[in-house]
Amino acid sequence: MGLSETVPTGGAPATAGAVLAVDLDAVVGNWRTLRTHAHRAGPTVECGAVVKADGYGLGAGPVAQALARAGCRTFFVADLEEAASLRATLPEDVRVLLLHGPAMGAERELAAHNLTPVLNTPDDIARWRATAMALGRPLPAMIHIDTGMNRLGLTASDADRLADDPALLTGLELQGWMSHLASADVAGDGMATEQDSRFRAHLARLPRAPASLAASSGIFREDRLLHNLVRPGAALYGVNPTPEAPNPMAPVVRLLGRVLQVREVPAGAAVGYGATYRTAAPARLATIAVGYADGYFRALGSSGHVTIAGARAPVVGRISMDLLTVDATRVPAQALVPGVFAELIGPDRPLDDVAADAGTIAYEILTGLGRRFCRVYQGA
Ligand SMILES: *Cc1c(COP(=O)(O)O)cnc(C)c1O
Repeated sequence: MGLSETVPTGGAPATAGAVLAVDLDAVVGNWRTLRTHAHRAGPTVECGAVVKADGYGLGAGPVAQALARAGCRTFFVADLEEAASLRATLPEDVRVLLLHGPAMGAERELAAHNLTPVLNTPDDIARWRATAMALGRPLPAMIHIDTGMNRLGLTASDADRLADDPALLTGLELQGWMSHLASADVAGDGMATEQDSRFRAHLARLPRAPASLAASSGIFREDRLLHNLVRPGAALYGVNPTPEAPNPMAPVVRLLGRVLQVREVPAGAAVGYGATYRTAAPARLATIAVGYADGYFRALGSSGHVTIAGARAPVVGRISMDLLTVDATRVPAQALVPGVFAELIGPDRPLDDVAADAGTIAYEILTGLGRRFCRVYQGA
């Protein structure tokens, strides 16, 4: 199989050194899969989408537009900058929520852009209520209660104060209560159940509103974690939400790097900076136009591999800023010419495996992908 035949380079200039292909149909398919899982707890459970960090590095605009067309009505981003650019591309009836809350001084801008903050502190609540008062209309908000992660959200005593005095919510159009799980990706970990119990204890005392607890991994654990709204991010982009089992999600990303040069070397030839690698036998090396400046982690030097024409080619020596070198001895010689593409991430080379080889998680690989690639969106 010549990879270049199957490479989705539509729209990419023939000269592109690297292509990042994003399959929007696969993103939509993954969202539908997640929604189906969420419906285990009932047909009204809503499936939102987390598109922070520019849609986990893949482009929040194209991803959110494709999902909105498929029926997704709730999107989460981190901050105002991300929210404002996304809001402009989405229908008015779609919710855009800011996980970081209303930045101090930006409250009126949020309201003007029809954005919904997640309120994380009593001060967030007070400032958002004051803005509602000043504008003379209720403002939408979701409220985050910390249940054990100690990252963002109201403390247990903050939440108790709201339960004792619901008037502290006057002026808010309360769209829901949320919390976030610390270790749902670890199968059988008891912490998710503990957090859910704490969350339920709060909900029982607070004014009624939809509740949201599960992100990607939580969706695949106990049904009781599903509540009314789920907030998947990573799984939409093809990351395995159940690391202990085969990946239930479809791959979304394909990263292809162009072979620039091919050379035959004898045994004992040094490769790359520091001459950290020497060939054990005569070898055929290929140099590829992708490096750590593109987000191909330097930690993958002498530990990762790519595929060329379906054959495995291990990375040899250190990764350079703009280049990496592979031992392509096992690639059929006729398939190995300058100009062909190597697959660095894709169906032959799963994202989660690349992350494991780099000593990190797929989230970090995705969000670290460089700006230099020619980006191609397929489908949707
Ligand atoms: C990032 C984030 C999510 C999405 O998490 P994934 O593991 O990517 O599905 C959901 N909720 C909150 C509060 C987050 O910060």
